[in-house]
Amino acid sequence: MAGWVKMVFKLEQNAMHRVPSLRRLLLGMAFLATVHLGTVENLQAQQEGANRYQISRRAAEIHQRGYVFDGHNDLPWEVRTKASKFFDEFDIAKPQPQLHTDIERLRAGNVGAQFWSVYVPVETIAAGNAFQTTKEQIELVHKMIARYPEVFELALDADDVERIQANGKIASLIGMEGGHSIEGSIGKLRQLHSMGARYMTLTHSETLEWADSATDVSRSDGLSEFGEQIVLEMNRLGMLVDISHVSPATMHDALRVSKAPVIFSHSSARKIADHPRNVPDDVLAELPKNGGVVMINFFSGFVVPESAGVLLKQSALRKELKSKYPESKELQERELKQWQLKNPYPAGQAEIIVDHIEQVIRVAGIDHVGLGSDFDGISKLPIGIEDVSKYPVITELMLRRGYEEEAIHKVLYGNALRVLRQATKIAAP
Ligand SMILES: [Zn+2]
Repeated sequence: MAGWVKMVFKLEQNAMHRVPSLRRLLLGMAFLATVHLGTVENLQAQQEGANRYQISRRAAEIHQRGYVFDGHNDLPWEVRTKASKFFDEFDIAKPQPQLHTDIERLRAGNVGAQFWSVYVPVETIAAGNAFQTTKEQIELVHKMIARYPEVFELALDADDVERIQANGKIASLIGMEGGHSIEGSIGKLRQLHSMGARYMTLTHSETLEWADSATDVSRSDGLSEFGEQIVLEMNRLGMLVDISHVSPATMHDALRVSKAPVIFSHSSARKIADHPRNVPDDVLAELPKNGGVVMINFFSGFVVPESAGVLLKQSALRKELKSKYPESKELQERELKQWQLKNPYPAGQAEIIVDHIEQVIRVAGIDHVGLGSDFDGISKLPIGIEDVSKYPVITELMLRRGYEEEAIHKVLYGNALRVLRQATKIAAP
């Protein structure tokens, strides 16, 4: 291993003299690795990751010849909840180490297309403002694009993605996370589509009248009749049907009903880590017929087997505390925090992400896997893959496992692009 690392280092040294842009990329990544997050523990982990996941010259070149098309980034909600002055406070043109995402690191990761999540919590249903809050989040993405016009441009279809990426900008797409956003109204679904939304995750963490969630009770054993109508309307609009977060029965129903390929915008493989947010093998086996893509989530709590177990216990406790202290969120949080301190879970290593990618390849094939990091929506990431600058690590690891450039490019962006294009073709004119 040590000899191998030395060899790669030598290759990099050579590459640095010959390829100035590559040199800048590598230097930029090294710099960013040192500024992100402050604790000693984090810095040690970052250093460990930097050593273990050195990017070879070949990997860097393959990564630069392609680009990343990521299915899920929660920056808009992070900005809404943590920065009262939004992008005036979190100016992502400057390094923002408290986030996973800023422009410099997006560039270092060679992100060329991103679905920005306009997530709103399910609690907005009870508050009666799910639709309104979703519209505000869509506006926030539009504002981000307008604020950094040399970096981002709104993309509504696959042609937009290709054109914008070729112009050196980041194609910015909008994805809704949870059918609660439409408040049971097809009219509202159409309105959100007209504002630019190009996917909708059918549920979030709670079951709706018309669709069952993976992390709640079943009401319709999958999709209700109205749920099926919503899927067909999304097909008609050319909006991708996203079946992350839903129960296996809902996944099967969506695959049966949808005329267009579906996506899992941020889900991993259940065979590797047994968490209900992940995709079971029998669903993966159905995917080739539909043509869809599973975009792999990077959250340690979903991808590391041991961590998935801890996270499941934590979710059970959360529900228990809700009924134990229905009146006091404070008491719920306090007891949860105490439990969390006693039950830490491992971050894992970047290799685990590629294990999930390979599980989807084994069961569904190389044409049905992509990346859906969930950056800025999650609290822990495997060592080596801590933020949006680290996508080249995935290219490096796939290369080490013997994948060729063509296969790697399918995972980085090709499959996502194909699915988006097919969904637009199937839509009614
Ligand atoms: Zn999510």
